[in-house]
Amino acid sequence: MKTADAAFVYSIEEHSYHFHDKHPFNPLRLTLTKDLLEACNSLDTNKILKPRKATEEELALVHDLAFIDAVKLAGANKLSAEKARSYGLGTDDTPFFNDMHNAASYLVGGTLTAVDAVMNGSYSHAIHLGGGLHHGFKGKASGFCIYNDSAIAIEYLKQKYQARVLYVDTDAHHGDGVQWSFYDDPDVFTLSVHETGRYLFPGTGSVTEKGAGAGYGLKVNIPLEAFTEDDSFLESYETAFREAVDFFRPDLILTVNGADSHYLDPLTHLHTSLKSFHFIPKLAHELAHEYCEGRWVAVGGGGYDHWRVVPRAWASIWLEMTNQTDVLNQPIPQTWIEQWQDHADVQLPQSWYDDEKMLPVVPRKPIITARNQQTIEKALFHIRNEKPSRRPSFTQKNNLC
Ligand SMILES: [Zn+2]
Ligand SMILES: [Zn+2]
Repeated sequence: MKTADAAFVYSIEEHSYHFHDKHPFNPLRLTLTKDLLEACNSLDTNKILKPRKATEEELALVHDLAFIDAVKLAGANKLSAEKARSYGLGTDDTPFFNDMHNAASYLVGGTLTAVDAVMNGSYSHAIHLGGGLHHGFKGKASGFCIYNDSAIAIEYLKQKYQARVLYVDTDAHHGDGVQWSFYDDPDVFTLSVHETGRYLFPGTGSVTEKGAGAGYGLKVNIPLEAFTEDDSFLESYETAFREAVDFFRPDLILTVNGADSHYLDPLTHLHTSLKSFHFIPKLAHELAHEYCEGRWVAVGGGGYDHWRVVPRAWASIWLEMTNQTDVLNQPIPQTWIEQWQDHADVQLPQSWYDDEKMLPVVPRKPIITARNQQTIEKALFHIRNEKPSRRPSFTQKNNLC
């Protein structure tokens, strides 16, 4: 089997992050992705790292202690409805479930495990698909997210490794929780490419949100028009990512890989296809090697067509990370289709690509493309007109010590 220098962080404990069977955020996505990679003979079980559970001290790197206590009480069904509301808990989006504190702590621990695997030099890259809970706030749960694994991992990287992080979020929703956690921080660059908040949760992520104080200019938002297709999505992503990484020169790239910009996703209005989900990790991989000696951690995120979209999108991150993209030219293994077809209420895909003939025609494509190009101009105006950062890299800093 051909695997490269990457760790796959996963364990069955992560399935306990499960609101209820009708909730769109479904841990079945992890099983389907892992099974698909195994059916392709692309995931060596020796490369699977078990996540540890994050400690309370680690959660408190970002979250208020009062909020952590509220989550514990909610998971024991001991939090009043009124108190719960003030912490964003007990809502339709983020309802109570049994032992939710422990379940959410495993997801954070998984991202910390991935970060340590890369920073201690054991692996160049790591993936933790259970992570990507980018709507979690300091003192409030939001949008299916309780603890914000990515924000905690960034603060952990800063404190433990003195690392500067470029955070790149291609989930269809704005990466608000991470952005606001580091809004005035000059050592964290956040880039979020998402559907405009005009009609979509959480409503933020406009080009005018650029950071504050010493962090000004280091928070970039690309709010795309509804019905944006592959070409314009990828033009926006590639332009912004290349310019951000060259400007900021990070020590590590952390990517959030929500799969909800796909045209089949039931919760959003972007219109990408699998073509975008093959290119998103390809560029991250290239730039991690070019700028960060390979240091790249990828986490999951949203994605609500869990039969047809998420397994193929997320598996392709691992295939890219481990230089196995030749698998994308093979059909989807029949063993995977036979294993899951009876459980699915839709026809499972036969190919890693979407059938071009099935893609919806968007008549306003030229207008959407032109508007997105104007958005890129506005979003990147600051870094195009500022001197790029040329701080010493993590390796240079360590050599100096
Ligand atoms: Zn999302
Ligand atoms: Zn590599």
